[in-house]
Amino acid sequence: MTTTTDLVSYEDALASYDPVMGLEVHVELGTKTKMFCGCSTELGGEPNAQTCPVCLGLPGALPVVNATGVESAVKIGLALNCSIAEWCRFARKNYFYPDMPKNFQTSQYDEPIAFDGYLDVQLEDGETFRVEIERAHMEEDTGKSTHVGGATGRIHGASHSLLDYNRAGIPLIEIVTKPIVGAGERAPEVAKAYVRELREVIRALGVSEARMEMGQMRCDVNLSLMPKGADKFGTRSETKNVNSLRSVERAARFEIMRHAAVLSSGGTIVQETRHFHEDTGSTTSGRVKEEAEDYRYFPEPDLVPVAPSREWVEEIRAALPELPLVRRTRLLAEWGISATEMQAILNAGALDPIVATIEAGADAASARKWWMGELARSANESGTSLDELAITPQQVARVAELVAKGDLNDKLARQVIEGVLAGEGTPDEVVDKRGLKVVSDDSALGTAVDEAIAGNPGIADKIRGGKVAAAGALVGAVMKATRGQADAARVKELILEKLGVSEG
Ligand SMILES: [Zn+2]
Repeated sequence: MTTTTDLVSYEDALASYDPVMGLEVHVELGTKTKMFCGCSTELGGEPNAQTCPVCLGLPGALPVVNATGVESAVKIGLALNCSIAEWCRFARKNYFYPDMPKNFQTSQYDEPIAFDGYLDVQLEDGETFRVEIERAHMEEDTGKSTHVGGATGRIHGASHSLLDYNRAGIPLIEIVTKPIVGAGERAPEVAKAYVRELREVIRALGVSEARMEMGQMRCDVNLSLMPKGADKFGTRSETKNVNSLRSVERAARFEIMRHAAVLSSGGTIVQETRHFHEDTGSTTSGRVKEEAEDYRYFPEPDLVPVAPSREWVEEIRAALPELPLVRRTRLLAEWGISATEMQAILNAGALDPIVATIEAGADAASARKWWMGELARSANESGTSLDELAITPQQVARVAELVAKGDLNDKLARQVIEGVLAGEGTPDEVVDKRGLKVVSDDSALGTAVDEAIAGNPGIADKIRGGKVAAAGALVGAVMKATRGQADAARVKELILEKLGVSEG
């Protein structure tokens, strides 16, 4: 087993080798029923309650293709700029594993529904990198095994294993890239950016929520190194089921360092699957990888071929939503912000909330300001994401409106947001309950201004003498006396008026 002590540094690895990556992403479709039967796909059901003779692989049971599953596959293919097969079949991928009751997985082999596409992805600095797509094909998920009695939850050391077939047969789309070459030291970043962009595309299409933390989207990272200047790929390792964007990047980075260590010490890379460990950021050996011929693929005899008509494909193409990169490019121009700012918005998960806040009536600048400022800070402190905060885009828009009308200043608006997040009600309710309102009528401000002048005779004299800038100190005193609720601009006017000085 390779440990972290055997690594060469990332810089040294990249000085001698070029990484070649292949990314295989599995997406669980959000269809109501499974790919080949009518069983529910809902999560969290009683184990094995959502099963039937088809997804349990009982003799004589006949599968039927889920039309929505096929439509979702076509949508994904088109969004990834792929060609859509005029005619293709499912295939049986034969292997035995306890979580797969049929003893084969219904998949597609040499006739994928979508092929030869690409996805442009954006790196942190806004630069675009094109990832070529080899294929996207339809298949089904396996069941889930739970190994009980061991310390690690892995099969080694377990006393027994439990099997839940509710997941068996849930539609999957597997999206496979062509070898990604030429990314050099940015290969791990490209991997992360690709999976993120793909996730955004899947979500925009509405075919899956693609929540990686729930296993709805997972990535296998294939990686090999070739000596700089060579053009023949090295032996690859395949790190399986990586389930967060950060882990995709770390797994690629770790494998680059591990391969470089093995190769530079004269060793050879074993073609195998590997497991990624979140805690250490390292991978360990899984099983030696089967070759395709080990699976004895053959066309599925129980399912009719899938032959999407060209008219249908064009209808789907015409109805595709605006895709994420196009949308981001448009918003970036509309808002007049930089690629780096857009990247920060993406990283914070703030794009959709900001857009929804603008749709609810706020201007773009204040929508960005509140989500990227106060609300991002709040989410960060409570360890949640922006969409989990107890405030809606409509409520943020209302706060922005109150600021625009002059009813609230920024300081009071922050208190209103704090109140909404604390469950005190809508922005208007918090304003009422906490008595938060900018005070701008002169009778209410007059006393506070008089007191500030009386309490600071030296400063008042300076202002009378023409030092208008000194008024700031008196404004500060009034703001303090009114607990931040005074209209600062009006306060300044009143001070100068009372002291008989005109501004400028
Ligand atoms: Zn079923």
